[in-house]
Amino acid sequence: MLEVEALSCPYCGEQIELLVDASGGDQRYIEDCSVCCRPIEVALWVDAQGYQVQVKREDE
Ligand SMILES: [Zn+2]
Repeated sequence: MLEVEALSCPYCGEQIELLVDASGGDQRYIEDCSVCCRPIEVALWVDAQGYQVQVKREDE
């Protein structure tokens, strides 16, 4: 089940869209920002309400 999440890039602050697959359970991966091309660390976890996505800078 692919979902589109609108999030703000932690580097440039631009709104970006991420495709997330919540059916695979908890995940952590790197996705390059489509605006500034820097590597965003994406954390996805599944809970009772559905799923949550958090993005942060790779160097934090
Ligand atoms: Zn960016």
